[in-house]
Amino acid sequence: MARTGAIDYGRAVKYFLLLDFIKGFGLGMKYFFAPKHTLNYPHEKGPLSPRFRGEHALRRYPNGEERCIACKLCEAVCPAQAITIDAEPREDGSRRTTRYDIDMTKCIYCGFCQEACPVDAIVEGPNFEFSVETREELFYTKEKLLQNGDRWEAEIARNLELDAPYR
Ligand code: SF4
Ligand code: SF4
Repeated sequence: MARTGAIDYGRAVKYFLLLDFIKGFGLGMKYFFAPKHTLNYPHEKGPLSPRFRGEHALRRYPNGEERCIACKLCEAVCPAQAITIDAEPREDGSRRTTRYDIDMTKCIYCGFCQEACPVDAIVEGPNFEFSVETREELFYTKEKLLQNGDRWEAEIARNLELDAPYR
């Protein structure tokens, strides 16, 4: 017949010496000093693929001329109908846009506009930090897109070069 009410000396010693506490504290200390898997954003940022599809930009040639030739392929292919282009010939006969708007509230970041562009003018750059406080700020004009292109040209050109063998 089993004895009831007997003292479990093993468990009592464990409680008395705080063994569970020490074990848990040791585990906490182990991970406190271990290399962290999290990033201290925004001071630290993870790597981005050259194919990352971020904020849009319109690019220029090195001489400052706009790349866009107003063929409107990007406007036609855009599944969200987010792009609006007006165009007319210049005095020298070249064709350029007079209006190039993207409604970023409609954009689904599919990248089709970039794929369709024959001159690598419209691209999705590496910038993902463009949150705003009003919807109006997401109606991008040609000036805004060209500014983005000027700002990110080095990164965009490098990404296009890295991706070129796979296109
Ligand atoms: S990424 Fe897609 S949805 Fe956005 S503007 Fe380009 S084609 Fe349109
Ligand atoms: S951005 Fe490219 S695809 Fe769009 S109108 Fe200009 S040249 Fe054509």
